[in-house]
Amino acid sequence: MHTKTLTQLAQGLQSGQFSSIELTKHFLDRIRKHSDLNAFITVTEELALQSALAADTRIANKQTQPLTGIPLAQKDIFCTLDVKTTCGSKMLDNFIAPYNATVVEKLNQAGAVMLGKLNMDEFAMGSSNETSYYGAVKNPWNTNTVPGGSSGGSGAAVAARLAPCATGTDTGGSIRQPAALCGITGLKPTYGRVSRYGMIAYASSLDQGGPMARSAEDAAILLQAMAGFDTKDSTSVDVPVPDYSAQLNNSLAGLKIGLPKEFFSEDLNSDMASTLQSAINEYRQLGAEIIEVSMPNLKLAIPSYYVIAPAECSANLSRFDGVRFGHRCESPVNLSDLYTRSRGEGFGKEVKRRILMGTYALSTGYYDAYYVKAQKIRRLISDDFKNALTQVDVIMGPVTPTTAFGIGEKIADPIEMYLSDIYTIAINLAGLPAISIPAGFINNLPVGLQIIGNYFTEEHLLNIAHQYQQVTDWHQQTPKGFE
Ligand code: GLN
Repeated sequence: MHTKTLTQLAQGLQSGQFSSIELTKHFLDRIRKHSDLNAFITVTEELALQSALAADTRIANKQTQPLTGIPLAQKDIFCTLDVKTTCGSKMLDNFIAPYNATVVEKLNQAGAVMLGKLNMDEFAMGSSNETSYYGAVKNPWNTNTVPGGSSGGSGAAVAARLAPCATGTDTGGSIRQPAALCGITGLKPTYGRVSRYGMIAYASSLDQGGPMARSAEDAAILLQAMAGFDTKDSTSVDVPVPDYSAQLNNSLAGLKIGLPKEFFSEDLNSDMASTLQSAINEYRQLGAEIIEVSMPNLKLAIPSYYVIAPAECSANLSRFDGVRFGHRCESPVNLSDLYTRSRGEGFGKEVKRRILMGTYALSTGYYDAYYVKAQKIRRLISDDFKNALTQVDVIMGPVTPTTAFGIGEKIADPIEMYLSDIYTIAINLAGLPAISIPAGFINNLPVGLQIIGNYFTEEHLLNIAHQYQQVTDWHQQTPKGFE
């Protein structure tokens, strides 16, 4: 059952080939069997079986939607009513959310069965899933390597077939980078496409939830259920949600693909470059035209992001003080001691580093020099994309500079870690949608191809990804031991 696509699973459920209870138990067994991957922080077995039972009733009454009865897992950044929601942090180790995030609510309404909450970098800060309070997640393709981050649990769980699909969030690359390193399909939607209500905030102007699945076809189904305007999120955009699955088979003849020369400079490692060129050649075969474009400000993305994201996180994380939210230290002697020790004990090293960088960048003397400057650069980067997207329909490039790196290899060197997102971060600064799809292997480790589109053109990205997946089978490869 774990090899089936979402459409096949829905067919199996509706034709009575298996029940949602059977399907759910099958995935719960796999989660147990492969617990050494550390992909889950919480497995909600009892709740899953209850939801599966309810789904079976809906199916018997023919009240189904595409996800009814299908198990999936939520990144532990989404608040889940009565279920522990940790955001990968000791700070929230005892937090039982009193409400559901909109994404969770929508997927529950669609009849999906939540298997549990997925491991992630603490407060979504990281590119390797090593900053989690609950320990590193292992990449099923090689368990000595990282799955990427911050949605590393989602990447590993979907790649290892512990869940048919999962949610993720992407502030600077956290859906696309683990999707690439784990050989799955991950879509970061346009900023505002998916509600952020109940999604614990890291950098509010950049965060966006999205689907992580085995194929574009599956991602279309999951996004359909996640997307849409939400009055509870003031940055959610009131644009109608198209039928994503209906657009998958459009022809790509005449599609104009832009390749930014800054993405394909000599800095890109040669194996990565040749793997991506083969993928681009497939697109030529599918009728696309390849055009070189230039985006001179891309090189400023990392420095600008590492001012803006920490600045926003320092404000967002101020609520975790042991009073309003989060871990409280033992026997504080006074208020200052309570704040200092609660925050000192509750946050991990990377989170503290970000808060320090952010408060520094926002302080009176440095606000103009750092924060305002970074915002100006952000505009230049958006303009580069806007400009390029007048010449071409989509932009393609790498997702990551390398394939999955070793656990422990970069964790002591923050700059090296930050550079893991060099190809993804600019897209968040511009608020654009982008998808990562499996495009080959280097030394048995998956490589992702990134496709970036214009605002609110997710259906176009899914169509372009799906057409490639019709003529290639990279997305169908399964890591050894997880078949
Ligand atoms: N790696 C980046 C960071 O640590 C992006 C993380 C993300 O997208 N949540 O900030």
